[in-house]
Amino acid sequence: MNTHHLLFLLPIALALYACGKIESKTAAAETPSYLPNAPAETEQVLRKEFPGAIPGHEFSDSLIHYLQRNYGIAPDKILLGASTCVDDIIYTKNFHFHPEIKGPFHLGGLAGLPFTGVSGLEAFAHHIPDSGTLVLLVEPHIGYSQKKGWGFVLRHEQPEASSCCGALMGTLGKLQAGTLKAEISEDDYQGGKIAELALRYKDQILNAESPIIELTRITSLSAEKQISAHVLDVSLEHAKYIVIITGVIINTDFSFTDYQYMDHVQIYDVRKKSFVQDLRNPQRHATAF
Ligand SMILES: [Zn+2]
Repeated sequence: MNTHHLLFLLPIALALYACGKIESKTAAAETPSYLPNAPAETEQVLRKEFPGAIPGHEFSDSLIHYLQRNYGIAPDKILLGASTCVDDIIYTKNFHFHPEIKGPFHLGGLAGLPFTGVSGLEAFAHHIPDSGTLVLLVEPHIGYSQKKGWGFVLRHEQPEASSCCGALMGTLGKLQAGTLKAEISEDDYQGGKIAELALRYKDQILNAESPIIELTRITSLSAEKQISAHVLDVSLEHAKYIVIITGVIINTDFSFTDYQYMDHVQIYDVRKKSFVQDLRNPQRHATAF
């Protein structure tokens, strides 16, 4: 019961996640095409660390279908908010698939932490369509390069893979070298906050089998905590549902689609003032659906 249920779950996430759609040169992209999936052995590597990760476009299709079928949410009533990294690869390979979905409103800064803060959430909440749904995608990212493995990705028209997420890899390098300092300054505020987070979990990161994967997971949890602490405090009266999806975007080399891993999915019913769904790693525990 897993594959089908899996797909239903996926939905939760981001409708936008049309990862990797290639724009049609002809009329209005009637037959969307996608970047191909990564080779099977690569998918296996991705899913070993991020169970159930699937191509982004499958994720967005499933999400839309799931929300419509189970909650009567029309795609054109969805506003997407993304707490994702500012790295250009995120937008280049994602968010283009379902133009009927509004957004994204960008809530994230370096590494995908929600640096726009409470002010960003408040501004964003005012843009939700009447009786609409806010879908929040809270996700740092990590590259997986065929050649160099985790923490790297081969970008378009570059000869070698480069670090990805650059902010997290840079932080990790300094942490490993013992030179990382949590100095919060106006000159490098976001970098300082990421350093502060990494130093708080220093031993856990350095002792992990894959420190960059560990740092990515810690960043994801921290971003979720920050969003969850404030999202229900903003003006939501005119909205129907708030969908919060926390996970990790896995960037693959430029010729392949990106992948989507969901760690936590929460659906909040504004009128009932309660969460009507709360699933941890729905892709792994697909039977929950
Ligand atoms: Zn990044």
